Amino acid sequence: MSDTVCKIIPADPNTKISPDKMDAARKYVEDILKCDSVNVQYSDDPKFIDCGSNLERIKCPLCGRKLGFDWWQGAMSAASKSSFTGLDVVLPCCNKESSLNELDYDFKCGFASCEIDIVNPAKDIDDELIEAISKLLACDISVVIARY
Ligand SMILES: [Zn+2]
Repeated sequence: MSDTVCKIIPADPNTKISPDKMDAARKYVEDILKCDSVNVQYSDDPKFIDCGSNLERIKCPLCGRKLGFDWWQGAMSAASKSSFTGLDVVLPCCNKESSLNELDYDFKCGFASCEIDIVNPAKDIDDELIEAISKLLACDISVVIARY
């Protein structure tokens, strides 16, 4: 059996959220949504928030061409040397500047230094829940839906 993990992260990779706000959001999710567990994670620097086996392709956000996983892994490895504090890249397809966070990941991925992981939620994370969590965390959020 595979697991679905809905990861709630700040939309901006550099946003830090205080533990009390994160905890309030975790409690809110536990109250409102049936799921296996809700876990809060932190890291000092932003890290890649992956979507597990849901990651099928990555495309250029500017010209829409498909990016090779080889190129992407090289760019990720270069960015990891600065602990993902610099995410700027020059795209191989159109030679334009963008950011690893802006790439068109399918399914969606992101970068963040904190996340709320909802393991096997009984229903989809709807707009209402996103809005409520966004208010509790006092920032815009993204949802990464991972499968393992
Ligand atoms: Zn391009």
